[in-house]
Amino acid sequence: FDQLDGYIWMNGEFVKWGDAKIHVLTHGLHYASAVFEGERAYGGEIFKLTEHTERLHESARILGFTIPYSVAEIEDASRELLKKQGFTDAYVRPIAWRGSDSMGVSAQANRINVAIAIWQWPSYFDPEQRLKGIRLDIAEYCRPDPRTAPSKSKAAGLYMICTLSKHAAEAKGYADAMMLDWRGQVAEATGANIFFVKEGKLLTPTPDCFLDGITRRTVIGLAKRRGIEVIERAIMPEELEGFEEAFLCGTAAEVTPVAEIGKYTFTPGQITKTLMDDYTAEVQPKRAAAE
Ligand code: PMP
Repeated sequence: FDQLDGYIWMNGEFVKWGDAKIHVLTHGLHYASAVFEGERAYGGEIFKLTEHTERLHESARILGFTIPYSVAEIEDASRELLKKQGFTDAYVRPIAWRGSDSMGVSAQANRINVAIAIWQWPSYFDPEQRLKGIRLDIAEYCRPDPRTAPSKSKAAGLYMICTLSKHAAEAKGYADAMMLDWRGQVAEATGANIFFVKEGKLLTPTPDCFLDGITRRTVIGLAKRRGIEVIERAIMPEELEGFEEAFLCGTAAEVTPVAEIGKYTFTPGQITKTLMDDYTAEVQPKRAAAE
């Protein structure tokens, strides 16, 4: 990935992709003092750019640091970089981290660095598998209690258990893992939120210890627009037995049908398909809709 072409925006400048380097004693690397975003551009526009950039600022605030560029400056840099990279449809990854000025757990004075990279990342899950519904394992690691980790921050450190869980699932032939939370309730996948369908209604866990994804909120809006009732509540894994459809959603995953979660099976059906299509239409720049 360090060999791709083009530019990376780093601390206010566009640097050649291969030159966007950091020192090995970076605090963010040793102690996970880093926050990031995942965004997608469609038709030359970054979907919900302001929401994502504001969340980046909020994630940093939760970790106790201030990003030295305003939301507007980061938005401008993201748009400019998208043009410079020459893409209309692409994935956008801003990241902010504590630098290498001092070493040790405490790093109050370390510089806060910011970078943005944009590359083409068409489908998060294998496209063929995706339409049939992907298979999920149930992860061994649980989403922590918000008193154990700053779960509202899209912080790099929270992804340690996600990578471990995804790797364990992949080793068993699954596409991803569904994580429970510390209470044993259904939480989310390793990089996407989860929804279920039961008797024509949409069910999704209350996001009290994991990200309330921007895609999650978009899908809830789309469902309501269709007159589909949306219920946010605690969901126990045993309930999966009685659910008809399941899907994941996130910026990278978009809306991805799920066919299996551990011993439970689902058939991607009308509600999942409708929301997949509505999401595909929703992400297109609004000017295209007016044409
Ligand atoms: N949960 C996790 C753990 C994620 O990494 C993501 C992707 N950012 C999401 C949920 C979905 O968030 P969003 O829809 O804002 O991309």
